[in-house]
Amino acid sequence: MPELPEVETTRRGIEPYLKGQRVSRVLVRERRLRWPIPEDLDVRLSGQRIQAVERRAKYLLIRAESGTLIGHLGMSGSLRLVECGLPAGRHEHVDIELESGLALRYTDPRRFGALLWSQDPLHHELLARLGPEPLGEEFDGERLYQLSRGKQLAVKPFIMDNAVVVGVGNIYATEALFAAGIDPRRPAGSIARARYLRLGEAIKRILAQAIECGGTTLRDFVGGDGKPGYFQQELFVYGRAGEFCKSCGSTLRETRLGQRASVYCPRCQR
Ligand SMILES: [Zn+2]
Repeated sequence: MPELPEVETTRRGIEPYLKGQRVSRVLVRERRLRWPIPEDLDVRLSGQRIQAVERRAKYLLIRAESGTLIGHLGMSGSLRLVECGLPAGRHEHVDIELESGLALRYTDPRRFGALLWSQDPLHHELLARLGPEPLGEEFDGERLYQLSRGKQLAVKPFIMDNAVVVGVGNIYATEALFAAGIDPRRPAGSIARARYLRLGEAIKRILAQAIECGGTTLRDFVGGDGKPGYFQQELFVYGRAGEFCKSCGSTLRETRLGQRASVYCPRCQR
């Protein structure tokens, strides 16, 4: 599933080809995504100049003159640039054709993604209640400490709650808790401020590194498969249950928290 670093890498990969371009037409071959693509998307976008490609949480915001296309990659979506008119495969549902002769092509085998139109995207119902960006100044360990007081919920689902901070998916929550030495099962309200400050820094560092890794794949957005640098980072615990801890050599354990598999080191994480 595309996580925040992959979505940010996608934004960086496609923006240079979209910004300042005028849309010539929108070809929709399959409208049934998680929500139907609006019937009038072609009418709304055609002739519009794209002003910016932004990101909020895992949503891409393609800003045009009279509104914004909100994109979400769901479980299996991807975006890349192709030559206009390139024959489309079965899962290549949408082409946004540009004056340049390139088209932004949306591919999504499982169709859990979304392409929606909004005049005011930051207040759209999907985005309005999202917490701060993890790499922004509004997020830090102090926020985690303040919001966690009195909470019995385990710390891992707490930091994965989009109202607390956006974009901390399972991989990054698992790795950040290991880096900060915090047991993922520990009640959020029982963790001291100093440990949350370390956790906040770990979340920022690990997400920033993942985005940096994705940077090596930016060229793949034209002609390539549009699937940026998944799992290029060294993983210390995620997906490694039963293997040895790279720090202390103990056997890593797996537990389930909030329906998600959670791997941790019983010795390094307390
Ligand atoms: Zn260990």
